[in-house]
Amino acid sequence: MVKDPPRPAVFLDRDGALIEEVHYLSQVEQVQLLTNVVEGLRLLERSGFALVVVTNQAGVARGYFPETQVDVIHRHLEDELARHGISITAWKYCPHHPTEGEGAYRLDCSCRKPAPGMLLEAARELNLDLPRSFMIGDKRSDLEAGSRAGCRSVLVRTGHGVAEEESVLPGLPGFLGVCDHMLEAARLVLLAGQRTLPSPSPWIRAGA
Ligand SMILES: [Mg+2]
Ligand SMILES: [Zn+2]
Repeated sequence: MVKDPPRPAVFLDRDGALIEEVHYLSQVEQVQLLTNVVEGLRLLERSGFALVVVTNQAGVARGYFPETQVDVIHRHLEDELARHGISITAWKYCPHHPTEGEGAYRLDCSCRKPAPGMLLEAARELNLDLPRSFMIGDKRSDLEAGSRAGCRSVLVRTGHGVAEEESVLPGLPGFLGVCDHMLEAARLVLLAGQRTLPSPSPWIRAGA
């Protein structure tokens, strides 16, 4: 039996990278896709990348909303993207917090970014090729999770991106650069994806 070769993925942070950053977002009415996200995801999907959303949702641990509401938000966002012809391969979220909340949710887990647990789990489930995969997010913790999973990464200047920009400047393995939005990030991923591995992470200016 021939096993399918592993495929590359782009791991996507949710809040501040795909949709407007809203503090502890919990209602579908708060979900607003950021500019150029549709175009960026379309480019990545058509280039053969699996699209995997990986999001910290400590609002669950803190008791602000239940896990069922996270699912409601994700189904809503999935439907909205489907209307644009984009399909998300998998949705992963971490409901934990190391020091806040009750019961099983109060946990120093391996899935809360910057830990790479969600990426590693998706890679096992979906047969993903991590060295050929990328993480796009608006925080250093996103990029660090990508780096710890053996992926390369891009920071977007949406959400917390502008404030986080300085913190990613000191070399993070596999960090490719900073982009204004998701479409620019997608272009940088495609450019970097053409290179052979491993990337020594030179500074690539998007669009250059
Ligand atoms: Mg974010
Ligand atoms: Zn977790």
